[in-house]
Amino acid sequence: MDLQALTALELADKIKKRQVSVLDGVKSVFEQIEKKESRVHAYLDIYKKEAYTRAKEVEKGIADDLYNSPLAGVPIAVKDNICVKAHPTTCASKILGDFIPPYNADVIDRLERAGMIIIGKTNMDEFAMGSTTETSAYGVTRNPHNPEHVPGGSSGGSCAAVAAGEAYLALGSDTGGSIRQPSAFCGVTGLKPTYGTVSRRGLIAYASSLDQIGPIGKNTADCAALLEVIAGHDPLDSTSLKRDDIQFSRENDRGIVGMKFGVPKEYLSEGLNPQTKAAFMEALKVLTGMGAIVEFFSMKTTEYMIPAYYIIASAEASSNLERFDGVKYGYRAAEYEDLHDMYRRTRTEGFGTEVKRRILLGSFVLSSGYYDAYYLKALKTKNLIKQEFDKAFADYDVLLSPTAPDTAPRLGESLKDPMAMYLGDIYTVAVNLCGLPAISVPCGKDDKGLPIGLQMIGDCFMENLSRQPAELPDFPALSAYLLRRLGGD
Ligand code: GLN
Repeated sequence: MDLQALTALELADKIKKRQVSVLDGVKSVFEQIEKKESRVHAYLDIYKKEAYTRAKEVEKGIADDLYNSPLAGVPIAVKDNICVKAHPTTCASKILGDFIPPYNADVIDRLERAGMIIIGKTNMDEFAMGSTTETSAYGVTRNPHNPEHVPGGSSGGSCAAVAAGEAYLALGSDTGGSIRQPSAFCGVTGLKPTYGTVSRRGLIAYASSLDQIGPIGKNTADCAALLEVIAGHDPLDSTSLKRDDIQFSRENDRGIVGMKFGVPKEYLSEGLNPQTKAAFMEALKVLTGMGAIVEFFSMKTTEYMIPAYYIIASAEASSNLERFDGVKYGYRAAEYEDLHDMYRRTRTEGFGTEVKRRILLGSFVLSSGYYDAYYLKALKTKNLIKQEFDKAFADYDVLLSPTAPDTAPRLGESLKDPMAMYLGDIYTVAVNLCGLPAISVPCGKDDKGLPIGLQMIGDCFMENLSRQPAELPDFPALSAYLLRRLGGD
């Protein structure tokens, strides 16, 4: 049996029916790692021995009916900014090169309780700052569709691992698009949940008001099942929500007749690659053909989304990253004169260029004299953006856009021009500013064979049917349906 062809849910089902062993699933992943990892470099750390031991344990657990989860026995990769007890968690930064957390992130405990098997930690942009996985201190990850191109970022390792069959599922984190954009570039599916749905405890913070962990998989059904495993209230995360509507994988095939989709006109203007636009327009045609109503509308705050995001994200990052000072944990400069010199040298040597740029920008916009002009203004702008989304959701059930204006750039291209790289986040950042859920599903390829993603944005809590009008399909099922229609599954 070709286990590689199976989705995570199919693998789990075969395991449950004893047609495949847990060990078989784990072996198929390691065979793929053996074949592809030297080229792709999706992982920073691989737990080979532990995964085999755990496979036996889970096999027994399944026989004893220990796990109440449809994903028991499935191998999963975890982004390296999520703490796994007693294993290095580096955030792809030199400054955390030897950091070994003494505790698990909440999501890791949940994966374990669900009988899932962690294969290792995946590469990422340093502290999740970037869009290409090239700012990692531990080498670049390559796009499995074409090794000359980046996998996107910052969860590039997680998306590349799923695309290369080096994991059935992966966890990523999304602060401004870091799950959705690399999912689009790698031709997989990735979902950023409503803020507060998944606990951030044990996720090393980039911008706390925007960060959210989410699932990456081969299709939407797998993502929905994984989100169901990781979602839930955590009393130790003060931003964690008590939601009673987290049955994301409930099937629904009621179709989308009469459903209203809105497309922000401004998203389709300058900077959009014509091939990406063509694939997107084709997707709109498919939707209309299925009986949905697709309309264009104006989103006037579009031009303020990138500036507001980069000011708020950098401000929060500069504050969050203050703790890396060489005192309690992580890297410390070998030589220094006094305490302040130790701080300076540790941070100078420990952080990469992109992280330093954000710390400088963030400290600047928070400094007295500039706070009102930049940070406060960005917060006010965020409110205006949120108001426009609220208005849009009064008219439309779901908003649609390409996930990114272009397909994956060639390695080395983006770092030359950080501003251009920031502009590539245009369709994803507002979702985080407003706490909304959004998913990227594959919707075609360009003439170089590089995948294109379609982004669907829902109103808060709309991952699930229970808060939608009864005649509408739920969010993941809708995308699964679309995915089948678009031939990307
Ligand atoms: N590319 C964006 C940034 O660099 C988003 C990153 C993310 O979502 N972690 O900030």
